[in-house]
Amino acid sequence: MVFGNVAEFRELIKHYALKTKKPLKFVKNDKWRVRLRCQAEGCGFTVFCSRLGKSNDLSIKSMVEGHTCGSSMKINMVKVKFMAKKYVNKIRRKPKISLKYFIGDIYDDLKVEISLSTTWRAIKAAGYLLYGNENQQFARL
Ligand SMILES: [Zn+2]
Repeated sequence: MVFGNVAEFRELIKHYALKTKKPLKFVKNDKWRVRLRCQAEGCGFTVFCSRLGKSNDLSIKSMVEGHTCGSSMKINMVKVKFMAKKYVNKIRRKPKISLKYFIGDIYDDLKVEISLSTTWRAIKAAGYLLYGNENQQFARL
């Protein structure tokens, strides 16, 4: 599998972490090398992705497949920007959505718990994606 850049690979891993409910963590994360492992105790799952020769592409160089861990409710990898992008349409439809309701919705959807502060920042970030600078001007008032 070849990736055009690290961002593409990281995005795929986040979707994978969410889908499989695994607490993955990036242990190395720079322009040409990404290494991640499963944070669950005793689980040996690890993936290493790096530059393909002298090209700008990256590919998976090594991988220890098969988690020995169970699924996790807390996916630390899911961060504000990712959430904002994923739920931007939902927030557009319901701009005044309550935080608690939104967290419940995410749980129904993904079966993961997202902290209150991450959710709040994701809603704000989604507002920025939707309304750009206009929203920033409002924030300054
Ligand atoms: Zn694992």
